[in-house]
Amino acid sequence: MGATDMRHSESVTFGGSGLDRAAALRGDATGMAGLWAQGQVLALWRGKPLTDGADLVWIAPGHRVLTDGGAQVFLGLDDGVPRFAQDISAWQPEDEALTVGSFMDLSVQHHPHLPATAGFAELRGLMTTLSPRAAELAATARAVLQWHASHGFCAKCGVASDVAMAGWQRDCPACHTHHFPRTDPVVIMLVTHGNRCLMGRSPGWPEGMYSCLAGFVEPGETIEAAVRREVAEESGILVGAVRYLASQPWPFPASLMIGCAATALTDVITVDPAELEDALWISREEMVTVVAGEHPRLKPARKGAIAHFLIANWLADRLD
Ligand SMILES: [Zn+2]
Repeated sequence: MGATDMRHSESVTFGGSGLDRAAALRGDATGMAGLWAQGQVLALWRGKPLTDGADLVWIAPGHRVLTDGGAQVFLGLDDGVPRFAQDISAWQPEDEALTVGSFMDLSVQHHPHLPATAGFAELRGLMTTLSPRAAELAATARAVLQWHASHGFCAKCGVASDVAMAGWQRDCPACHTHHFPRTDPVVIMLVTHGNRCLMGRSPGWPEGMYSCLAGFVEPGETIEAAVRREVAEESGILVGAVRYLASQPWPFPASLMIGCAATALTDVITVDPAELEDALWISREEMVTVVAGEHPRLKPARKGAIAHFLIANWLADRLD
């Protein structure tokens, strides 16, 4: 990969900021206690980080909102500062908003023991405002804490497991199996046929929203095979050459988006209604109007999402 490509891939939100994760320190419980005492903590409530709307809000390890907190994770050394995250999902906000079923949770929860300017907000809404470092810290915190929240029991024997390795492992006290945070690979592809690219929409998406096709990589499958299978299943289009472009950690809850360019060999679309509501070919000229927000039907991909990155680079002719 050339220097130009690297620059582009690192412009993806959650695309990595070179955080020193200091993994060698995770197994030293005494040393970790010392780091905790001098560190800063990002509190997350049900996957939502504490933010002032522009940046993450870090609190001291002795802060009272952490007293009844859940799992802790050591995120790493951020320019020498030990950074941690802690789950405080047990807290019950008085004004808990009901957002079940909405595409994106726009509510913000304010804790009575925190400044009024700080609240717990959906990370997706912060994607374009956070610095690359803050985005990496928040994505890591969300992914690992959500894993703890849903993996409290040993997958082998069913006994409640214990947090270990500064939050990067769970150990079973009964059968002694070690469990590690999972990352689920997802392929997302810009499929082109001449001057057009393939866009689809899933049932339940906001009106006018179309994006690149995407799907989970299955066990035993290569990235290229997953791209070809997903595109064929969802749209009936057959794909030839596949190239990897960039990846994006997507902690909703634990995906790694693998962005690819794929060349279509056919162009007759047959939508699988179980997977897609609609799919269509969009010309480069038409996509310019979509991105500008001037298309009569289609809305632009959200900034910060890897689909936006793939489409923008296709329009700029930077995919070759
Ligand atoms: Zn076990």
